[in-house]
Amino acid sequence: MFYQMFYTSEMIPGFTKADLARVLEVSRRNNALLQLTGMLITHEGKFFQVLEGPKRNVEKCFALIGRDKRHRGLAIVSKGYAKQRAFSEWRMAYHDPADLPESVRKTVFSIYKLVPPRSPDRSDDPRTQEQVRKFLAGFDWLRPDVPPDGIPAGSGRQAAP
Ligand code: FAD
Repeated sequence: MFYQMFYTSEMIPGFTKADLARVLEVSRRNNALLQLTGMLITHEGKFFQVLEGPKRNVEKCFALIGRDKRHRGLAIVSKGYAKQRAFSEWRMAYHDPADLPESVRKTVFSIYKLVPPRSPDRSDDPRTQEQVRKFLAGFDWLRPDVPPDGIPAGSGRQAAP
């Protein structure tokens, strides 16, 4: 069993593409060491991140992320155990919603609506969980057995841990 944590947050003003590149670089390095995988989406100054792996490591990493001054207003969308990883090949895939298939983009926006930054923990809310399920199902094309369709997801691909 793996543990998954989903959250949203807001970039601090002045957060740049170079800052994002640094976050992704450090995340991919650290996540490989902690056996973590996941995905980060940025949209209109917001982050949406899924982190997954051994529970202790997810929580350790999330504690670090929560203290990071480059974003604020963290809000947990979902957390809990999953039978398998949704992003098993990705130390930290990265997406701008413009890169995503329409169905996934719609789900991302509905999650933002349900859980904007600074919301209380929504991991028990059935409407949010339904959106999270749809959201994860929308990433089937990132699985190793599904051939890539040319949508860029960054260079964070790795052998499944
Ligand atoms: P270093 O980059 O060496 O950071 C050392 C310290 O400096 C940390 O406390 C860091 O928070 C701080 N820091 C570095 N650069 C800046 C800056 N420009 N402005 C302010 N403070 C800075 N880390 C992961 O390991 N895995 C993840 O999946 C992950 N996801 C993230 C998602 C988001 C949206 C953000 C904003 C950060 C994420 N991070 C992630 C980074 C995480 O918050 C820590 O910075 C990182 O884990 C610290 O690892 P380090 O000491 O090796 O990194």
